[in-house]
Amino acid sequence: MKIAVYSTQPYDKAYLQQHNTGHELLFYEAPLTIGTCSLAAGCTAICVFVNDGVHAAILAKLSSMGVKLIVLRCAGFNNVDAVAAKQLNIKIVRVPAYAPQAVAEHAVALILTLNRKTHKAYNRVREGNFSLTNLAGFNLHNKTAGVVGTGKIGSAFCKIMLGFGCKVLAYDVLEDDALKQAGVQYTTLNNLLLQSTIISLHCPLNAATAHIINNDTLALMQPGTMLINTSRGALINTAHAIAALKTGRLGYLGIDVYEQEEALFFNDLTGTVVSDDIIERLMSFTNVLITPHQGFFTAEALTEIAVTTFANIDGFDKGAPLINEVVAV
Ligand code: NAD
Repeated sequence: MKIAVYSTQPYDKAYLQQHNTGHELLFYEAPLTIGTCSLAAGCTAICVFVNDGVHAAILAKLSSMGVKLIVLRCAGFNNVDAVAAKQLNIKIVRVPAYAPQAVAEHAVALILTLNRKTHKAYNRVREGNFSLTNLAGFNLHNKTAGVVGTGKIGSAFCKIMLGFGCKVLAYDVLEDDALKQAGVQYTTLNNLLLQSTIISLHCPLNAATAHIINNDTLALMQPGTMLINTSRGALINTAHAIAALKTGRLGYLGIDVYEQEEALFFNDLTGTVVSDDIIERLMSFTNVLITPHQGFFTAEALTEIAVTTFANIDGFDKGAPLINEVVAV
């Protein structure tokens, strides 16, 4: 099958080439836009990543060109208009899980860095400054960690936090009995926000969760709360989070995802002027840590993404049931 691969980074190309099961891959650094649809001329499928917006107009154009399959090389599918795709009889497949531990471990890396300030110590010591001033953190042991969304990543995160000796509260529309047996206590979202020292978001972005963190929910948090988001940027109303950082309601913010990340993340913008004033404001806080959507970025996850992507393509090619299909609801 001939497949146009959008938003290709060198690591995407390396892993996809290594695990290719015999397809013709056209690699493009360009993201998918209405203007870049034509790069998929003659292709049966396109392969896209988290920030490629596969909107109705783009789907219509791709359909008119003969594209029949959207291959997401990621888990989240909030960037695809599944209803429009269904109407055009275009199938969508995704990689539902790729090393969920990778993202959970990255969330913990954000917590430990923000708390113990290892990033500041690293720079300080290299300058010959061995002072401890302003490096004090807090023990995670006996603190309460609140986990919003206990699917594959949230579940892995809960287990790590239990290992630190945290009390783990969770909120999800579905409860996981195995986690309960492991010691996780499910509660309401409001109670979780009221009681937690650290809150980590692991639910998908959808109509129910968009801006789940806003002025009202921030107001329920304890002063100095640590908020971690490795899920999707729009779970947090960023302007409201900035206001909460100014008052100290939020004591720490660690984000691997950002509401307007499409224009920034996965690109080297060194030497250019970043025109996004909101992320510039976020970066000015010393208690904010931003990473560029790298939670998934481990060798294990990249392998799993490539292997599952080709299994999805092969399944479609053979007319087999699509086990990783995204179906419009
Ligand atoms: P998952 O589907 O296994 O789990 C999501 C959980 O959220 C489920 O248990 C679901 O019931 C719950 N949920 C759904 N709606 C909810 C709501 N309204 N309130 C509370 N909980 C709700 O997904 P996953 O594999 O654990 O991934 C979670 C998210 O992580 C993905 O949606 C994606 O956005 C993000 N992600 C980020 C990276 C990264 O590199 N930073 C990588 C992969 C995934």
